[in-house]
Amino acid sequence: MLHTFRKGGVHPPESKLTASEKIVPVELPREVVITFAQHIGAPAKCELKKGDHVNRGDLVAAAGGFVSANVHASISGTVTKIDKYKTALGIPVDTVTITADEEDHKRDIEAIAALKPLRSDEEIAALDSKALVAIIDGAGIVGLGGATFPTKVKLSPPPGSTAEVLIINAVECEPYLTNDHALMLECPDEIIAGVQLLMKAAGVERAIIGIEANKGNAIDLLTAKAAAADSRIEVMGLKVKYPQGGEKQLIDATIGKEVPSGALPIATGAIVQNVATAYAVYEAVKFGKPLIERVVTVTGPSVAKPGNYRAAIGINMKELIDVAGGVPADTGKIILGGPMMGKSVVQIDAPTVKGTSGILMLPEKEAVRNKVEPCIRCASCVSACPMGLEPYLISTLSRLGRWEEVEEAKVMNCIECGCCSFICPSTRPILDFIRLGKTTVGGIIRARQQK
Ligand code: SF4
Ligand code: SF4
Repeated sequence: MLHTFRKGGVHPPESKLTASEKIVPVELPREVVITFAQHIGAPAKCELKKGDHVNRGDLVAAAGGFVSANVHASISGTVTKIDKYKTALGIPVDTVTITADEEDHKRDIEAIAALKPLRSDEEIAALDSKALVAIIDGAGIVGLGGATFPTKVKLSPPPGSTAEVLIINAVECEPYLTNDHALMLECPDEIIAGVQLLMKAAGVERAIIGIEANKGNAIDLLTAKAAAADSRIEVMGLKVKYPQGGEKQLIDATIGKEVPSGALPIATGAIVQNVATAYAVYEAVKFGKPLIERVVTVTGPSVAKPGNYRAAIGINMKELIDVAGGVPADTGKIILGGPMMGKSVVQIDAPTVKGTSGILMLPEKEAVRNKVEPCIRCASCVSACPMGLEPYLISTLSRLGRWEEVEEAKVMNCIECGCCSFICPSTRPILDFIRLGKTTVGGIIRARQQK
């Protein structure tokens, strides 16, 4: 029987329109906008000034603290602007604009074609855990499943915690998204090598790659590759259920342990890393390549050329959408990420970032919100909540601004998966109010801690 997590969960339509689409490399853009806050934690600090020339892969901004990450130039060129730029969500952030001339562009294309390993297999085998973490840190690698938590932080457990198992998140449970699936089918050897490097960096002797059963070809392929390469790596097929890609849900599904409320996943002995992160680690160690590109699923029912596109980080979203055929005329909503946890885009003239896993364009008819009806106290939201919360209650208390009670109802445990809103027969905007509650209570807790 296939494993899955125990509490809650839902089964949204999968809509994996691009499941059989190969990864298409997007031509290097002539201009990129690199943002300094592409990760959870402190923004990186700019290392450049206007007029500087950078090569592809050079440092643009250095990590601004322990929980932070370096950011690098994804093309060669000249720094033409250092200013604020609005993200796709409409938030102004500090950025550097790099503009390539013909010479820069030509040199980048030649360098990509002639890419050679930086380290031999023997040199890689000689690297110890500390050296690997330093390479991962230097390369600015963050969780590529969307959370963008700096990878080196997860590989440095707090004192008193011991890592026992590495869990690779290859679940991709969000509807529509297929970028991880495509990467598994096209780069299985590199992924297995990346998993081995992460195991060594984390000091563990066991790894589990969790993949949902709707990606049977990826399960078969990686099972064969892992069996041939390393008996310590197990590929585990999981029952399809959303939100299995949530860190806590995946730990429960794969090793049957529950992360205690308020604790970090390492409390169970597990370190969770995304499958694309494992690939990025391989590239950083083997080729000395920082995190400067990623695979993005650009999709939607009316998109002309939906696909999995490998693009330079910092490429303008509009440019990337144009490669997929442009914004369809019937589009009612554009979402960054998938439809369950993704956020609504307010402008497409915005840079892509390390966490841009997908761009979803939904037709008007699928984007409209149904009329909100009164709560009928059916408790479906309670049954669906994977965190064991009472969504109807937290949502109502948030709407009324009763923040103490919102905190007591454990709003901070909400992982914003959207199962409650999805399942509600009265189409109540439960998650909207829970997000409001989380933001407000989070601020209250921080203020309390600073006193
Ligand atoms: S309350 Fe939070 S964790 Fe629970 S179902 Fe709703 S969004 Fe998910
Ligand atoms: S699912 Fe909707 S209608 Fe049912 S209890 Fe929750 S909020 Fe009320």
